[in-house]
Amino acid sequence: MEEILAQLSSIKQAFQQDLQKIQLLREFDDLKISFLGKKSPLQGLLAGMKELSVDNRRTVGPALQELKGFLESTIEEARQAFIERKARTAIEKEQNFDVTAYKPGAVHGRLHPYSQAVEEIEDIFISMGYEILDGPELETDFYNFTALNIPQDHPARDMYDTFWTNKKSMLMRTHTSPVQVRSMQTLELPLAAIVPGRTYRHEAVDATHDFMFMQCEGFFIDKNVTIAHMFATAQTFLKQLFKKDELDIRIRPGFFPFVEPGFEIDMRCPFCSQGCSVCKRSTWMEVFPGGMIHPNVLRAGGIDPDVYSGFAFGFGLSRLVMLKYSIDDIRHLYGGKLKFLEQF
Ligand SMILES: [Zn+2]
Repeated sequence: MEEILAQLSSIKQAFQQDLQKIQLLREFDDLKISFLGKKSPLQGLLAGMKELSVDNRRTVGPALQELKGFLESTIEEARQAFIERKARTAIEKEQNFDVTAYKPGAVHGRLHPYSQAVEEIEDIFISMGYEILDGPELETDFYNFTALNIPQDHPARDMYDTFWTNKKSMLMRTHTSPVQVRSMQTLELPLAAIVPGRTYRHEAVDATHDFMFMQCEGFFIDKNVTIAHMFATAQTFLKQLFKKDELDIRIRPGFFPFVEPGFEIDMRCPFCSQGCSVCKRSTWMEVFPGGMIHPNVLRAGGIDPDVYSGFAFGFGLSRLVMLKYSIDDIRHLYGGKLKFLEQF
């Protein structure tokens, strides 16, 4: 009889261990079959009851019934608890799904550094009363060269490595200057405008050269316009662009066929006082070639050079953007690599 009672206790122990392991609802049925089914040890013991003496039956009988009741009720309670727990987590999951809580990752749209710089440059010139003009990138020989005092066979044409097209006298503009004469012919004086845009040169591509680059043309035409206006304009623009209260500029003579006299305007390096890699240790940087518009160019635009005068300049926008953001390779600007662009 002692043996039977020991068996009951080990059945109970095994049952509790198996109960702990349950993960799925259907496993309760398996548990019920193995502990209460026809072939279970408990049923075996119940069947063996009739072989026991009356006295032993009085002790073992209730113990067996008690275990049987315990197993049945425990399985049912655990099954109910399991179902309720599943239902509760499902409801919680549903409640926690808040569509407004969805945040896309850190991917923001933003303007290309070139566009940012062009907008800033445009704002500075607009604040000085300039307007923004545009012109065709596929140009005629006349507007790109002849009207700018560079007639056919003029040696100055060699300065420009030009992309010619299959169409006679059509080319990819080598500078933004063609817009000068185009606007003189169509707009009223006085005329103050800048022309940011793409230009093309037949050049080998490296870190500082590209076959396509951005230029910005600027010009101001009115009565009594002098070189002093040009210097003041250049200084005001550069101070605002590089956010400097004081910025020295210096002027050197320079030759460009469409201006007379022509100048190179340099500015004091905004990044150093002793010389750095950006200014090649000279503390000065070339930024602004320009000059007084050549009388022949004014004439080509239908303007009388005895009555009107004007200045014009053209600077490399790509170069200025590279300087402003300390970009060391021009190819980054047009490469479209997100890793690079996301820094701006
Ligand atoms: Zn420097």
